[in-house]
Amino acid sequence: MKTITKQQIKQAAQQAYDDVKGLSGGKNADYIPFLADIDPALFALSVVLPDGDRIDLGDHEYRFGIESVSKVPTALLVMKQSGSQALLDKIGADATGLPFNSIFAILLENDHPSTPLVNAGAITACSMVTPTGDSSAKWKAIVDNITDLCGSAPVLLDQLYKSESATNYNNRSITWLLRNYNRIYDDPDMSLDLYTRQCSLGVTSSQLAAMAGTIANAGVNPVTGKQVFDAAMMPQIVSLIATVGFYEHTGDWLYTAGIPAKSGVGGGILGVLPGLLGIAAFAPPLDSAGNSVKGQAAVKSFVRQLGLGVFNGENIRIVD
Ligand code: GLN
Repeated sequence: MKTITKQQIKQAAQQAYDDVKGLSGGKNADYIPFLADIDPALFALSVVLPDGDRIDLGDHEYRFGIESVSKVPTALLVMKQSGSQALLDKIGADATGLPFNSIFAILLENDHPSTPLVNAGAITACSMVTPTGDSSAKWKAIVDNITDLCGSAPVLLDQLYKSESATNYNNRSITWLLRNYNRIYDDPDMSLDLYTRQCSLGVTSSQLAAMAGTIANAGVNPVTGKQVFDAAMMPQIVSLIATVGFYEHTGDWLYTAGIPAKSGVGGGILGVLPGLLGIAAFAPPLDSAGNSVKGQAAVKSFVRQLGLGVFNGENIRIVD
């Protein structure tokens, strides 16, 4: 059993933040016009421990578009509402090895959309949220679930929602191709709209870290103490994150960083070390697969300094 102190965790987070703050490289997403204009210098790093202790550095109160990180809570919602077997049967749990918005991936695996953590599977997940046919009740379920995971409510970024809705031609094609394969379980336009809206929710890195901490803490929000999902779902959601969280760069990420993490094109990253801690980073410039450049560097620096990683085979305990 290895122990690490809270002081060591604090120092590692501060060091990671300081080392990465001046890092250049990457580019804001620009296929969603709103995201192109976000200040590329924004940078935040947050950590939440299972006892609710937290570390927040930099622009941790800035609300950015959650984007694809929203695919994680909605996958959990579908598992809660319909069971994890339904998620596996109707969506799947495989990596595509292709970009998040790939149409090719749907054509290759036309018996299911592969995973709820790429656009196709996430749109199908939105179609599976209940109650079927009731857009406002479904939206409430999606937002309430994110609120429970974060311990506070996300806020819709209306301009982002409008910007994304006006330009999401590729996602419209994905939706109707899925409909063609009978992989949409509610009205297709409604399902796409729910997906676009959930991607447009504004969250802070503090909120994302609390969501990560709730997942790491087997469904109990470490800040509010609320049981948000059944403990048996933790290894399932973490396996989905590990498999495809960084799209076609996921294997490289796991090989070098050793922590399952999920990115969004808004610049957010959510990382989970089951049983140990949740971490979130935010910085808008992205690499070619759509993952935050600074966010990746900061999370990597943090886990490396502390010698953490899901494949290390070590039993670690955090002490005061
Ligand atoms: N809303 C974005 C899209 O559908 C999410 C993509 C992402 O964050 N990787 O393209």
